[in-house]
Amino acid sequence: MINVTKTFFPPIEDYQNQLARVWKNQWMTNRGALVLELEEKLKEYLSVSNIIIMTNGTIPIQIALKLLGDGGEIITTPFSYVATTAAIIWENCTPVFVDINPDYFTIDETQIEAAITPKTKAILATHVFGNPCNIDAIETIAKKHNLKVIYDAAHAFGVTYNGKSIFDYGDVSTCSFHATKLFHTGEGGALFCNDVDLRHKMFYSHNFGHNGPIDFFGLGINGKISELQAAMGLAVFPYMSSILEGRKEVVNYYDNNLNFKKLQKLKIRENTQWNYSYYPVIFESEVVLLQVQKVLNEQQIFPRRYFYPSLNTIPFVNEKSMPISESAASRVMCLPLFYDLEQEKVDLICKLINKFI
Ligand SMILES: *Cc1c(COP(=O)(O)O)cnc(C)c1O
Repeated sequence: MINVTKTFFPPIEDYQNQLARVWKNQWMTNRGALVLELEEKLKEYLSVSNIIIMTNGTIPIQIALKLLGDGGEIITTPFSYVATTAAIIWENCTPVFVDINPDYFTIDETQIEAAITPKTKAILATHVFGNPCNIDAIETIAKKHNLKVIYDAAHAFGVTYNGKSIFDYGDVSTCSFHATKLFHTGEGGALFCNDVDLRHKMFYSHNFGHNGPIDFFGLGINGKISELQAAMGLAVFPYMSSILEGRKEVVNYYDNNLNFKKLQKLKIRENTQWNYSYYPVIFESEVVLLQVQKVLNEQQIFPRRYFYPSLNTIPFVNEKSMPISESAASRVMCLPLFYDLEQEKVDLICKLINKFI
């Protein structure tokens, strides 16, 4: 069986070696030695000046919205994982959707200003499939209207834009280290924020607001990652270059062998070094997609309809139509992509798709 993705399991000895350190330290959580080491390693690898690792990729979005959203309107994309929209509603803010660009699949920056009202507090946009939003345009709009910018960069581990880490952009960027993501700690995530004061607030917010054992800086929640998760991250980390290399080969094979006369592929934004995180293709119609899905499923190949449905149409959201996002969502499928997917399987997937489109 071939799924859309496959979790990278490091050799078990590597994980055991990391776990042995946890046992030796007799320290399980609350930012122990392994968490601190992983933060240092990731800072260097990603060329960022700061990082706060957390227990998943949703809590940093929630914390950012809690501190910057102020219960107001948040301009956001309908084409993302449900966590992006759910976090907005969970934090008692209101999602205001802006449709996406049909080539890049990221929020259509040319429509953002029309959605701004006196209640707008922030823009929460997703670098979907690791493809950067139009960061320059969004920054200009945000400055002009005094809005905060939060990037859901859950898919964007290792991406650079204009020669800088993608996590360096926006007031806050977040990432997910979930087992299905490019780099993982089982469950995990991170927050990046260049403003020292805001970062301090984010930091204490993820640790119950503590300032030492008996004093509090302010309100907080629990977003801490444990040493066990950090141990997984440290065991996975040395394999990142081979993981990326394997994915790149699969991506190149799809690029060279799928029939793009009848399929649309993701257009990567200019000046981007991409991370081979997903391989979305857009079919001519949902009928064709369902047909191809059926054929692949019969061969025990399970691509996934990322992202379907368009988030403006989910039950707990009441929003107006987003024609481009709804159209893309109904026709998009992410093809299997992981580090050791064999070329003969990729070839089979290409042949089956080409035959049925
Ligand atoms: C995976 C994902 C998240 C949530 O991350 P978790 O670590 O699973 O909490 C948020 N946004 C997007 C776009 C994602 O794909």
